[in-house]
Amino acid sequence: MPPAAASVARVSVTDAQIAELLEAVGAEDVVLAEPAMEAYRFDWARTPAGMPRAVVRARRAEQVQAAVRWAARHGIPVVPRGAGSGLAGGSAAIDGGLTISLDRMTEVRIDAATRTAIAEPGALNVDVKKAAAAHGLSYPPDPSSFEICSIGGNVATNAGGLCCVKYGVTSDYVLGLDVVLADGRLITLGGQRVKDVAGLSLTKLFVGSEGTLGIVTRVVLRLVPAPPPPATLVALFPTVRAAAETVVTIGGELRPSLVEFMDGRAINITEDFLGMGLDREAGAMLVIQCDAPGPARGAEIARVEALCEAAGATEVYATDDSEEGEAFLVARRSFFPATERLGALLIEDVGVPVPRLPELLDGVADIARRHDTDIPVVAHAGDGNTHPNLIYDPKDPAARERAEAAFADIMALAISLGGTITGEHGVGRTKRAALPDQLGSDVMSLNVAIKHALDPQGLLNPGAAF
Ligand SMILES: Cc1cc2nc3c(=O)[nH]c(=O)nc-3n(C[C@H](O)[C@H](O)[C@H](O)COP(=O)(O)OP(=O)(O)OC[C@H]3O[C@@H](n4cnc5c(N)ncnc54)[C@H](O)[C@@H]3O)c2cc1C
Repeated sequence: MPPAAASVARVSVTDAQIAELLEAVGAEDVVLAEPAMEAYRFDWARTPAGMPRAVVRARRAEQVQAAVRWAARHGIPVVPRGAGSGLAGGSAAIDGGLTISLDRMTEVRIDAATRTAIAEPGALNVDVKKAAAAHGLSYPPDPSSFEICSIGGNVATNAGGLCCVKYGVTSDYVLGLDVVLADGRLITLGGQRVKDVAGLSLTKLFVGSEGTLGIVTRVVLRLVPAPPPPATLVALFPTVRAAAETVVTIGGELRPSLVEFMDGRAINITEDFLGMGLDREAGAMLVIQCDAPGPARGAEIARVEALCEAAGATEVYATDDSEEGEAFLVARRSFFPATERLGALLIEDVGVPVPRLPELLDGVADIARRHDTDIPVVAHAGDGNTHPNLIYDPKDPAARERAEAAFADIMALAISLGGTITGEHGVGRTKRAALPDQLGSDVMSLNVAIKHALDPQGLLNPGAAF
């Protein structure tokens, strides 16, 4: 297993140093009691985590600066934290370190004239969406966790989601950032302008940097006109292969706004949880949405239907009713809570170029057999991004070993298919060991050099990403 946050060498912080922190940040915004800090230790990956020495719950960027300056002065590691919904252990606390939580910086302002949202990092994705919708605008990136994840966390992980197949990922919408650097300086990158090529693309550098280069304290997001309501199609296939090949065909011809996949095992686990009448015999299910304007939408969904039928779908159902369409997505969105009940989880988010999706899914099934591990798969299939979830009994060390071996094999498989070890969740602490295999030594050392230039003491989220 990759090194846990808790395994970063423990630092001892003296009472005098804590008194200095309270003075610098304001005692009312610093949590020191262990029971209260428990809520800031883990993310949803539940990787091992330490007990922080203090948690700063910042209300303003100046407090983030003061806390980072304090940490830099005393050589104390800092873990930035959004809403803690991460699936890669990125915000897992470091023993004796400082966690800076942005959960109280939640303001969102919409500027309709420039079609931008100016958001504090702790604002939830759903709140940005709601604020944009009130102006007839849309913020498209939609991780399944959109109701529980923060915009700062989305920026730090370059979060994806269901509609990325048509609308792109978080970085496609980030126009500007305020970032607190490792020495406490606050910089502003980009702004409310659509085009800006002055200097290096530093805004993009910070997007997806997983809290290792700086702490985001303000985000300027591009908004787009709200798309029309989608038509939805659900198709059942006898095999994973038939569904995956259909995804490839559709991707080569059409531009749907969502293409989600569940394999037979994932369907059964979800049906056990929801009891909504899913077909337990199906080998795989696709949920596809098209949101082209006017009559083009109907034509697109009809073509999807024809392609599914030609590929041997055993059942196809299409609806124009967006509420009914949303109900079909409930199954897909419920997969994670349904799986969580079954044991401990190792969650992958490997991605491949779309035409390699059938090989990836076949390969994962083979790995599951070889390592005797239960690995249901769901996927944002339209962009080749899959979530094999490895379930094991936490009380059985041999089962855990098999799951860990399978976890490594799946990442190696994705790399061998020209893919990535992480399409959207980030490297975090769970995939760190495999990063050099994907990047190669030259690119890996360039990553390390950039990290060193921005954080020479290595205090920002050590143990995460690289
Ligand atoms: C049920 C479920 C479904 C999910 N579905 C998706 C999905 O479809 N697509 C997807 O991409 N993800 C998904 N996720 C994963 C997760 O929601 C995303 O990674 C999200 O972007 C994390 O946001 P957060 O606010 O919870 O960040 P956290 O978990 O708190 O942190 C994540 C990382 O960002 C860093 N960070 C957080 N805030 C800041 C900041 N202000 N400045 C610098 N660094 C910061 C942390 O140090 C950490 O490395 C899902 C998670 C769950 C539980």
